[in-house]
Amino acid sequence: METKKKDIRALTKEQLRDFFLKQGDKAFRGNQVYEWLWQKSAHSFEDMTNLSLETRQMLKDNFVINHIKVDQMQRSADGTIKNAVRLHDNLIVESVLIPTATRTTACVSSQVGCSLDCRFCATARLKRMRNLNPDEIYDQVVAIDNESRLYHNRPLSNIVFMGMGEPLMNYNNVLKAIDKITSPEGLGMSPKRIVVSTSGVPKMIKKMADDKVKFKLAVSLHSAIDDIRTSIMPFNATFPLHDLREALQYWYAATKNRITYEYVVWDGINDKRKDVEALVEFCKFAPSKVNLIEYNPIDDGEFQQANSKAIDMYVDILEANNITVTVRRSRGKDIDAACGQLANKS
Ligand code: SF4
Repeated sequence: METKKKDIRALTKEQLRDFFLKQGDKAFRGNQVYEWLWQKSAHSFEDMTNLSLETRQMLKDNFVINHIKVDQMQRSADGTIKNAVRLHDNLIVESVLIPTATRTTACVSSQVGCSLDCRFCATARLKRMRNLNPDEIYDQVVAIDNESRLYHNRPLSNIVFMGMGEPLMNYNNVLKAIDKITSPEGLGMSPKRIVVSTSGVPKMIKKMADDKVKFKLAVSLHSAIDDIRTSIMPFNATFPLHDLREALQYWYAATKNRITYEYVVWDGINDKRKDVEALVEFCKFAPSKVNLIEYNPIDDGEFQQANSKAIDMYVDILEANNITVTVRRSRGKDIDAACGQLANKS
């Protein structure tokens, strides 16, 4: 009976060194392989040209490299690129490259589908199939970095965990991926250029604070009124705003990193003065800023972006209360790559 080979990238550097020692070889061979796997993103053992043919064959006999494959790449008129990424078990996730004048941002997925059920989100229609492994998250970033260099002549500058899935529901693997992305043995990116965006899982926000993570935190808030938030993000019934607020205060006390609130204003849902006033109150609990994001209707069109008068009202009231607010236009709409649109349609 054939035994299933292990994905070599699930091994730490120490485990790789041990493996070589047990084979009667030198431990530093493990360092060489580790460098091929992460820094050089080798797709096959054949690529590892500083190893002997026998060593490469021995690795092939024992392991596989479950690399992702970009199945389809779509380019938007505004320069945005969306990748449909095939995983080793043939499941698909999506990731997006968003270029602006000053930065190139990768928006990556953390789960196949999503277990949460935000009513405005296309990914919510796909049930959660599984969590992504650290290497599958890392590979999405490498693929986008390569595309950034090829099509925009510059390396990737920022990463947001805002693609498919709730990153804090796959916390350990997201953390391991970020470790690799920020390590000099990986991509060597600064954690300050990474944002983990959550719908707000209080227990996990506190855990991040306890773990002293160095990346930034964004929360998809969308309403600071419990009834309204629950109607659009049903899990708010389990994790109400009071618990979220307490977790965010804990986060700020531990990290001194201000929080970004992602916020869409929808017609007839959260476009009233009372909605802005509740947001102003919520922003007082911990230093924060607000990103007002343009919404991209998904197929059934149940949710519609509020008119510009409502957006102006938000900006005026937030600014009058000394809260930093940015209005963010959406990118890649023509290829369904914009926020909330990732649903494996390509
Ligand atoms: S918005 Fe995020 S957390 Fe909510 S369903 Fe979509 S992917 Fe999941």
